[in-house]
Amino acid sequence: MQIRIAGLVPESFVDGDGIRFAIFMQGCRRNCAGCHNPETHDLNGGRLVDTDEIISAIKKNPLLDGITLTGGEPLLQIAAADELARAAKNFGLSVWCYTGYTFESLPPEAEPLLAHVDVLIDGEFVEGLRDLDLQFRGSRNQRIIDLKKTRAQNKIVLWSEIGG
Ligand code: SF4
Repeated sequence: MQIRIAGLVPESFVDGDGIRFAIFMQGCRRNCAGCHNPETHDLNGGRLVDTDEIISAIKKNPLLDGITLTGGEPLLQIAAADELARAAKNFGLSVWCYTGYTFESLPPEAEPLLAHVDVLIDGEFVEGLRDLDLQFRGSRNQRIIDLKKTRAQNKIVLWSEIGG
């Protein structure tokens, strides 16, 4: 399957917990003021790569703790993101995913992907709520959500609440 990406960071220390393979997915319609990755907005920009190439690069690195789907808006390419997420789970890796959607407004069609996501960082970047001290997110409205616990407990459980 093909995926349109802005870039890959094979060993990232800033896109989630531990050492992570970060996939910067191409395309976002939100145009948040102050967005740090405006080059990822063009839906036809970036480049097309085969998900198998990314999966084999992930598989080759025994140091990884997980993968991070970021962008851009990962939920614009749900099927490809899901393929990467499923492969990562098969390798015993955690999956973090950024999205401009809030948890409460996630589209139902994202459910197959979200079933394989451990941690969701939700919400648009809001320039007025920007805070450089925040870990793994740009503005205070964004939440680092432990998606598995949130689903099990039927209430939002933040990742930081469990020792992150
Ligand atoms: S959702 Fe993310 S990538 Fe899209 S415009 Fe906002 S900050 Fe940028």
